Amino acid sequence: MPYDLVIKGGTLVTASGRFAADIAVDGERIAAIVAPGISLDGARVIDATGRHVLPGAVDVHSHHREPGFTHKEDIVTATSACAAGGVTTSFAMPNVQPPPNTAERLDAMIALYGEKAIVDWNINAAGTVPEEIPALAERGIAAFKVFMVVDTGRDYPHMPGIGVHDHGKLLEIFEAVEPTGLPLMVHPHDQALMTHIEEQFWARDERDALAYAKAYSAHDGIIWDTAAALLLRLQKATGTPLHLLHTQTVGVVEQLRRAKAEGQKVTAELNPWALFLGNDWSNIERLGSYALSYYVPEHNTDPLWAALADGTIDLVSTDHAPHTREEKEPGWKDGWKAHTGTPSTQFYVPLFLDAAMTGRISLERVVELIATAPARAFGLAGKGRLEVGADADIAVVDLDGILEITDDIVLSKIGWTPYAGRQVRGVVESTLVRGAVVYENGAVTGTPGWGRQASPTR
Ligand SMILES: [Zn+2]
Repeated sequence: MPYDLVIKGGTLVTASGRFAADIAVDGERIAAIVAPGISLDGARVIDATGRHVLPGAVDVHSHHREPGFTHKEDIVTATSACAAGGVTTSFAMPNVQPPPNTAERLDAMIALYGEKAIVDWNINAAGTVPEEIPALAERGIAAFKVFMVVDTGRDYPHMPGIGVHDHGKLLEIFEAVEPTGLPLMVHPHDQALMTHIEEQFWARDERDALAYAKAYSAHDGIIWDTAAALLLRLQKATGTPLHLLHTQTVGVVEQLRRAKAEGQKVTAELNPWALFLGNDWSNIERLGSYALSYYVPEHNTDPLWAALADGTIDLVSTDHAPHTREEKEPGWKDGWKAHTGTPSTQFYVPLFLDAAMTGRISLERVVELIATAPARAFGLAGKGRLEVGADADIAVVDLDGILEITDDIVLSKIGWTPYAGRQVRGVVESTLVRGAVVYENGAVTGTPGWGRQASPTR
């Protein structure tokens, strides 16, 4: 009996090393991994000669915009971009309308994903209604999410109902999440400090995208550092596993290092914009709000790469945050009127592969950061690894190929990318989700509804 599919001739890359091997897939799982030359019979054969074979990326932080903001993105377009980018699992953030902060709303969202998702998925429920937390936890989710942000002067992307910055309320949420055993993801932000900083900028009539960038990084990232300190202290008080989002300052890295040395239950994430976009002032001058997520002053870059290499930062996820041009354009005059965030799910794997090719980081560590570590941190036993018995979630990449990033190849509904004009070494050629080819030869071949909820097995 032939296997359903065989990937032949490639070099497998795992978190711990690389080796030449062929992979056989039966049904949804990896059935065999054998040395080249041992003949494997496959009903379908993918020739990976000269290619590298990676576990599909597990992105635990993405904004798919459905329900409520489908003019920006929807589940089909977001997960199409995932397929093209080698992302086989994508977790949605809860700033949608209505936000999944009750069991009823979460159930409706789960039903939507069941019909539409092309890759595997989960939903990070909003942990803003403490009494709903136990019921939300029963629905196969892998984490809760809270934003400490309440936007000033606009109602998106951090609208009412998902933001909490009152310290007592945050403590209450940490306490409510603890019995579920699930991690709490938090976007760190010190709203009280930010309010004062913003008032100073506005008093000087500084409102453009450059002012916005400077305000969020004022006093060398004080709003990030003080928020992280609070969150780490709440973690210590409650024992609730904390997943810290948007790591981008030396100050936060130092706190993480200390907390981990003391055995605190904390994982941390870095987003691609912190190393490939917002850490270069010339990008912000050139692209204005289109380059903002956030400005990460240049002196943070080397320490962030070091923290990725030594494990202080556990994983990379995208913070894929699509907004239309119409929503970004006002930023030239008023950065506070433009929606914050940048799209990235389609190109972050190639950007990190390129970094490995240029010697910034090892290829094995990239695989760990984008696939193995996020799967482990969120309890996804079958994901993020190339092993017999694991889900056949696989990306075949050409590390010699040059990807020319242009707006034309963007699959996200918004049709633009801040990375346009770049050439990177690392082309995703095919993507498999549980054995099904969802992308190959430049086209998405996956079917809406194939994606399944990727739940933790704890
Ligand atoms: Zn985000």
